[in-house]
Amino acid sequence: MSANAIEIETLRKTYAATARSEAKEALKGIDLEIPRGSIFGLLGPNGAGKSTLINILAGLVVKTEGAVRIWGFDQDRAPRQSRAAIGVMPQELHLDPFFTPRASLEVQAGLYGVPRARRRTDEILDLIGLTDKADAYARSLSGGMRRRLLLGKALVHTPQVLVLDEPTAGVDIELRNMLWQNVRRLNERGMTIILTTHYLEEAQEMCDEIAIINHGEVTARDTTANLLSRLDGKTLVVRPEAPAALPPLPDGVVGEARPDGSLVFTYPSSRFPAEAVLSAVREAGISIRDVTTEEADLEDVFLALTRSA
Ligand code: ADP
Ligand code: MG
Repeated sequence: MSANAIEIETLRKTYAATARSEAKEALKGIDLEIPRGSIFGLLGPNGAGKSTLINILAGLVVKTEGAVRIWGFDQDRAPRQSRAAIGVMPQELHLDPFFTPRASLEVQAGLYGVPRARRRTDEILDLIGLTDKADAYARSLSGGMRRRLLLGKALVHTPQVLVLDEPTAGVDIELRNMLWQNVRRLNERGMTIILTTHYLEEAQEMCDEIAIINHGEVTARDTTANLLSRLDGKTLVVRPEAPAALPPLPDGVVGEARPDGSLVFTYPSSRFPAEAVLSAVREAGISIRDVTTEEADLEDVFLALTRSA
């Protein structure tokens, strides 16, 4: 048996052209292995292809090419087993407004062929904090409660792998904390968790390992700690009093002279204080008119990684 929860080989997806849109190559040959027992983050900006990837895993979108194995089961050769091994909390809020949380969970369990005696409806209601609302119509639930119900629905068949697609986009802090608590608890009990997010901090806080996905390609894949050490770039923009060339710089600091006359320094802030950069500038006899910093945000990180790849 493989030690991976998920194995993805040269996965491609092209959405066909429609009357309103051109054909779109959303996944351009993804290779990815996700280890069992991990909390794994798929991090990428909007439109990167995260949901497409998740929805292929979930069996909701048909791949164009490639292979997917879930818990060792090939999606094409063993569709039933591979589907049984995974539960997905989708990004979109699809709930039947006339079902109560209890009914939603029961119906979902029925769809997965979970026999009545093995259903865990009450346990799941308790886990997602909806015991009080078990018999209320979905349309009377708040947005946060609906999301929790979606999480519950992903759990009815006790999958080995739980996938959460942007679970905290647009949710309040309280719900976010509750979701993360649930996720950690499920992971401690042995469930492999995959979550997508476009928040770097969230991936950093929750995930053991991260794949960065951009324009349908994996541009980086590493442990969170390793990735962060590559990402902690800071940028210092120095405007000299008079036109100046780049000064000699400590190893690890990258300089660039911009056409507007400013000198731009990029460096890992964990290794250098800004003062190390500024004193290199002063020592070269450059007097400084103005200094600004540019904190690397996620967009820069993607750009940097894409460029270096
Ligand atoms: P993410 O979840 O990372 O924001 P998506 O997987 O939703 O990215 O989208 C990836 C790309 O595929 C985007 O350019 C998006 O517009 C396109 N796309 C997603 N779903 C469809 C669809 N059903 N039909 C056509 N294009 C789609
Ligand atoms: Mg998405």
